[in-house]
Amino acid sequence: MKDPPVRFALASKRVVTPAGVRQAAVLIDGERIEAILSRGEVPSGVAVEDLGELVISPGVVDTHVHVNEPGRTDWEGFETATRGAAAGGVTTIIDMPLNSSPVTTTVAALEEKRAAAQGKCHVDVGFHGGLVPGNADELESLIDAGVCGVKAFLCDSGLDEFPASGEAELRAALPVLARRGVPLLVHAEVVEAEQNAGPMRNYGDWLRSRPEEFERNAIALLRKLCAEYLAPIHVVHLASGPLTSHFFWAKQDGLPLTVETCPHYLHFSAEQLEAADPRFKCAPPIRRKEDRRRLWEALLDGVIDTIGSDHSPCPPEMKHLDATQPGSGDWQRAWGGIASIELTLPIVWRGLRTHMVTFTRVAEWLSATPARLVGLDTRKGRLAPGFDADLCVWNHEEEWTVRVEDLHHRHKITPYDGQRLRGRVKRTYVRGQLVYDDGEFPAGPTGQLLRRRASFDTA
Ligand SMILES: [Zn+2]
Repeated sequence: MKDPPVRFALASKRVVTPAGVRQAAVLIDGERIEAILSRGEVPSGVAVEDLGELVISPGVVDTHVHVNEPGRTDWEGFETATRGAAAGGVTTIIDMPLNSSPVTTTVAALEEKRAAAQGKCHVDVGFHGGLVPGNADELESLIDAGVCGVKAFLCDSGLDEFPASGEAELRAALPVLARRGVPLLVHAEVVEAEQNAGPMRNYGDWLRSRPEEFERNAIALLRKLCAEYLAPIHVVHLASGPLTSHFFWAKQDGLPLTVETCPHYLHFSAEQLEAADPRFKCAPPIRRKEDRRRLWEALLDGVIDTIGSDHSPCPPEMKHLDATQPGSGDWQRAWGGIASIELTLPIVWRGLRTHMVTFTRVAEWLSATPARLVGLDTRKGRLAPGFDADLCVWNHEEEWTVRVEDLHHRHKITPYDGQRLRGRVKRTYVRGQLVYDDGEFPAGPTGQLLRRRASFDTA
């Protein structure tokens, strides 16, 4: 183990505080931010490092990551996933209850996962629990054990041991979640089997097999149940642009219905993907340019709340990239999931290059709001006194091309290979420790395992 960090300060022309960007020094004492000061106010005797033009933002909080350990560690594991996170300025990840084995649907499975993660993580890690048919009685104890949220699928998850929930399962879970103030995170597609049964030869077939209607039916059900139970529901990975209107109206009605989209829906569009291989396969599928435009608009309007990577890798053979037709792959059998844990910030920042958006706004999307979603907002997500010293130091002007072999997740596959992005992470600090420094990981796996803050019980 490294020695505990000391009292030191990092200065820059661009320190991203909740109140705006200012030229300042972040004074760090041990694991916490002691103060944000002007440079001249730093107490004498404290070493100040001047980072010049580099941006100092709160570390990214990614509430949607599939680590897959234990049980499917050959897909991805805590060591490699959190290395990728650190390299991307991500200081906290929340692991999804699948695709590990066992899936996190009981407290015993949660403890097994925590044991597997212990001592391997380069950033801080929290855990979501899972809702599946028959385990609604477990939710109370999963929440007591500190899960950050509860995930459910309204369609096949791709894993037999994590079956889909229907309206009955949601109705069993929502009163508990409303009372405890813990969000239900939902994969919102209701898949009608006959539409999903055709041959799958290319991206267009995949897109047509998962029409917007699947998302629309799921979101309509969730909005209705949210109004009925007043339970926090967070729709994950929204792909359809027009469906953002549901979230606009839910917010107008004061409902606790929130929504995430993912970097791939903000970066790619179906028009580019006719000949794409299954690296691009995910559900819901990446939709049209017009959807992408409306997702950005909803983000800028405050209708979309968070951006999660939905990092969901698998071994190369499971992506079936090697079909006889060059570039097309075997879409039918390929695993659906996109690996991109370390690219969220430069993807989003590149997408914003034609918009006048402040660093403060980006920090709300990527840090403050997701921290609040998962009940970590008393410690994480802001550069403010008393908060964990979780910092992302980055060059906002640097443009660069992704080379998959430079990424840190387990299997070197990503649809972003060769993509030109903007903004490059130089350093990442987790609780005052320098965990990533321009290609190096000097602190080692010093990440902690997190539990959601004591959830309230209004009963
Ligand atoms: Zn996911």
